[in-house]
Amino acid sequence: MKKLIRNGTIVTATDTYQADVLIENGKISTIGQLLSEEGAEVVDANGCYVFPGGIDPHTHLEMPFGGTITVDDFETGTIAAAFGGTTTVIDFCLTNKGEPLKNAIQVWHDKSKDKAVIDYGFHLMIGEVNDAVLEELPSVIDDEGITSFKVFMAYKNVLQADDETLFRTLVAAKELGGLVMVHAENGDVIDFLTKKALAEGNTDPIYHALTRPPEIEGEATGRAAQLTGLAGSQLYVVHVSCADAVERIAEARNKGFDVWGETCPQYLVLDQTALEKPDFEGAKYVWSPPLRDKSHQEVLWNALKNGQLQTLGSDQCSFNFKVQKELGRGDFTKIPNGGPIIEDRVSILFSEGVKKGRIDLNQFVDIMSTRIAKLFGLFPQKGTIAVGSDADIVIFDPNVERTISAETHHMAVDYSAFEGMKVTGEPVSVLSRGEFVIRDKQFVGAPGKGQFLKRAKYGSTTSDKSQTLKI
Ligand SMILES: [Zn+2]
Repeated sequence: MKKLIRNGTIVTATDTYQADVLIENGKISTIGQLLSEEGAEVVDANGCYVFPGGIDPHTHLEMPFGGTITVDDFETGTIAAAFGGTTTVIDFCLTNKGEPLKNAIQVWHDKSKDKAVIDYGFHLMIGEVNDAVLEELPSVIDDEGITSFKVFMAYKNVLQADDETLFRTLVAAKELGGLVMVHAENGDVIDFLTKKALAEGNTDPIYHALTRPPEIEGEATGRAAQLTGLAGSQLYVVHVSCADAVERIAEARNKGFDVWGETCPQYLVLDQTALEKPDFEGAKYVWSPPLRDKSHQEVLWNALKNGQLQTLGSDQCSFNFKVQKELGRGDFTKIPNGGPIIEDRVSILFSEGVKKGRIDLNQFVDIMSTRIAKLFGLFPQKGTIAVGSDADIVIFDPNVERTISAETHHMAVDYSAFEGMKVTGEPVSVLSRGEFVIRDKQFVGAPGKGQFLKRAKYGSTTSDKSQTLKI
């Protein structure tokens, strides 16, 4: 059935204007003034913004880590994402050394297929580069539609890859049209500092932050950026948390290197003192990179504003405080790393960014949706309000005030990282390919309705890849 969204203010990465949006067959078919209501269900968006659904480029749903598994799976995680105004997630598919990449991809398809309520794609972790991996990569890109690869420079003896692996991945990505993503922290030095801390009897959560100082992130970011320049390749630095890393990214971009940076809401609004909360509650804020001194927040906001950083991911990686985070009582290195962020990503950027005048409305849409679609081969199918694009749309009330709390959130996890935080603005209704997932703040979607997205190569659009847009 046709739907007509009336009376709203459309916001894209470039424009803000009043118009109606007609949706047919899951796509936006017409944008204009006073469109005919004939045969259409009318959705009133009076007083609301109408913007493209958020795209979260960084999630870990149902992911094994540190002997346990993240609480939110593709069902609860994508429901929470939708409540928060996100209509696409790109999740990290982990791989095991010595095993075919296809097997790992199948595992991720199995855990997502009947559960996701919104569309989703995968990034693929690269832990080693050898003949078998190089042989498989073209088909991963062309057949599986997975066009971004993650290399961990941290988590020694677990996920960490060496510099040769990173460099060879960059070279292969350049040749094949992939985007390399790095977790940029120096894992070897962290390993040394954490062992030293434990040997000295320093076991509390705050030592998670103290053993991973900003210099360690800055060093790894600079190293990855230099190797990218050498390879003539392309790099996306995930979860940038500090000034040291922002500076390395800005330097690389000034040299003309194709280097991009993502930050996350937690680094914009929380700081290192959270890890000092009593009764082991600091463990709720243990993730990597760690929270920083408050002075880094302004640097990150400015970097988003001036384009040194371009995107906002959640790094959703939720572990319950009870039982799971408690694995690290008496030894901070055993606290599962990660936090529950997926639901609040868009709202925090709007409330703390737009409402407080740090970024403008169009930058907000670019940072949480459009730029991500462009970098990860989803544009213009996703990431904008345009004729021919998927009708992934958020109807957003910019004035409602609310308080974030675990009591009202929709994630399965037992705490909120932003408990008690007041925000302005909330999604009222959210559509995925023209169908309501959230309607008047109620979930009306269904698990399994989300589709796996085969993405275009780096630098290409979905129209290059498949259909030209039919108008
Ligand atoms: Zn992550």
